[in-house]
Amino acid sequence: MDDLQFGKRNKRGDRAPDKRLDIAPFWSRQPDPVKILKCVPGYFWPWSLFFFATALLWWRFVIPDTETLKTLSWGWVLRLYLINAVAIALYYGAFELRLYWQRAQGTRFKYNGKFPGDQKSDVFWFGSQNIDNAVRTLSIGVGSWTAVEVGMLWAYANGYAPWLGFAEHPVLVGLVFVFVPMLHEAHFYLIHRLIHIPVLYKWIHSVHHNSVNPSPWSSLSMHPIEALAYFGVMLWHLILPSNPVLALYQLHFAGFGAAGGHIGFDKIELGEGALDTPAYTHYLHHKYFEVNYADGVVPFDYLFGTWHDGSPEAQARMEARFAAKRARVNRKAG
Ligand SMILES: [Zn+2]
Ligand SMILES: [Zn+2]
Repeated sequence: MDDLQFGKRNKRGDRAPDKRLDIAPFWSRQPDPVKILKCVPGYFWPWSLFFFATALLWWRFVIPDTETLKTLSWGWVLRLYLINAVAIALYYGAFELRLYWQRAQGTRFKYNGKFPGDQKSDVFWFGSQNIDNAVRTLSIGVGSWTAVEVGMLWAYANGYAPWLGFAEHPVLVGLVFVFVPMLHEAHFYLIHRLIHIPVLYKWIHSVHHNSVNPSPWSSLSMHPIEALAYFGVMLWHLILPSNPVLALYQLHFAGFGAAGGHIGFDKIELGEGALDTPAYTHYLHHKYFEVNYADGVVPFDYLFGTWHDGSPEAQARMEARFAAKRARVNRKAG
C-alpha cells in the first residue's frame, strides 16, 4: 500500500497524514446532525466495544465471586495482577511484534521515521526505550491498574458503591455506558493538564515523556503517581449509577485503550486493506508536549487553545504560542 497517497514525509523521514484531526462533532458551535450521526459508529466501533467485551470476559471468567471479593487476600489479588499482566503483554505485544519487531510494514504509515529500538539513551532503564517501557508498563502500569481495580471490587462487594442492574435500570445504566469514553477523556485531560505544571512534570510526568517516539510499550510507562491517577478514573463509579461491569469497562478503556495513542502508525496494514488507528492526536502530544492533552472526544483542548489538528495553520498557531511563552519567561528572567 502506498502511504504517500494519504500523507507526506519530510527530509528526516517523519510522516504527517493529510487528514485533519477533528474534535467530536457534538461539541461544534453549530452541530451538524449528519456529521454527528456519521461519528456514532466510530465512537463505539471497533475500539470501545472491544474494551467492553474484555470487561464482560473479565467479569465472567476472571473476577472472583462477591463473597471472595469481600475480603482482601493475596491469592486472588496476585492472580488478578498476573492475568492483567499477561493480557497486556499479549495485547500490546501483538502490535509490538508485528509493527516493531517484525517491522511487517516497514515505516509505511509510521509517523516517526525511526524505530525506538534504534535510539539508546541514559534516561531509560537499561539504556533502552523498549526494555524500560515494557518493564515499567508491566510492573508500575499494570500494578497500579490492579490496585485500583482491587479497591473498587472490594467496595462493590461490601456495598460501598452503587450497583444497578442492566435490566432494572436500562436508561441510567445505558447513559453511563455511553458516557464512559467521554469520562475517560475528561478525567485524563484534567490529570494530564495537572502533571504538565512544571514542578509535577519534572517529578512525575517526565517519565512518560522520555519516549518522544512512543511505541505500544510506552502506553503505561509512567511514574506510579501518574499511573494511579490515570486508573483512578474507575473511582468515578463510586458515585455514578453504575455497576462492576461498567466500572471494569472504564478501567479497560484506560488500560487496553492506552495503546491506541502510542501505536506510532497511522494505519495498520491488513491484507489488501488497512485499519485506521487513533494514534496521531497523542503522537503530536509526545512530539510537541504542550498540545493535545486529550484526544478531542471532549472539547477542552479546543476551548483552551491547545488543540493541534495536524494542519500547517495549527502548527503556526502552536509555534506562536510557544514563542509568546518564551518571551514571557525571558522578560521575567531579565
Ligand atoms: Zn503518551
Ligand atoms: Zn503529557
